[in-house]
Amino acid sequence: MPAVPFNTDGSIDRRTLLVTAGSIGTLTVAGCSLAAATQEKTMAYDLPPLRYGYDALEPYIDTETMRVHHDVHHRGYIAATNAAIAPYPELADETIEDLLRGLNDLPEAIRDTIRNQGGGHANHQFFWKIISPNAGGQPTGPLAEQIVTDFGSFDAFKTKFTEASVKHFGSGWAFLVVNPETKGLEILTLPNQDSVLLHKRPGLLACDLWEHAYYLKHRNRRAEWIADFWNVVDWSVVSTRLQGIREGRKQL
Ligand code: MN
Repeated sequence: MPAVPFNTDGSIDRRTLLVTAGSIGTLTVAGCSLAAATQEKTMAYDLPPLRYGYDALEPYIDTETMRVHHDVHHRGYIAATNAAIAPYPELADETIEDLLRGLNDLPEAIRDTIRNQGGGHANHQFFWKIISPNAGGQPTGPLAEQIVTDFGSFDAFKTKFTEASVKHFGSGWAFLVVNPETKGLEILTLPNQDSVLLHKRPGLLACDLWEHAYYLKHRNRRAEWIADFWNVVDWSVVSTRLQGIREGRKQL
């Protein structure tokens, strides 16, 4: 039986799962039978499982927020994306990141939906990867050095990222990205579910500024949410993303 490859964050690659399940008949992988996997082929994207429990990020992100955020909000973005691309089976083999990179080449009828709903899928997939329990603190190595180069110090970076997040009007996201021309790091806040990929900026860090990310615990106090967010940032994952970008690997 061939091994089922996993992504570095522990999730199963969508296309690998389909190929694996298709080639050996009735294999059940992660509770997903062949029939279900085959069905997924017309469904394009499925909800990636979290690599930690819903309660694992307490007290910084509460269990109920994690459940609703992952199981309801993220699932909703995926369902709407799948519905939009259903009439275009040729798109089902593309990653959501590739669809966003090539947004202007998509059929006009689905461009806004992919930007908003597909962006929601990509942003949440990104977000779940860069947070984890027993995290926080400060980065080390090349990432830490680059932050000092571009922002003066880690504390100055944190302050600037927090201020940008608090000042951002309405829903959206705050990101730390790499500028492909200068290779330096930049803070970028974007509205709605816009992805950094629309701006040709590979992302290192993402913080969800939608109220659904913090309202149950923090109500309207976004600054408190950002303060808690720092305690769940997994800097080792962020460092790996920077290394991947520098080595020219495509960002997911
Ligand atoms: Mn969200």
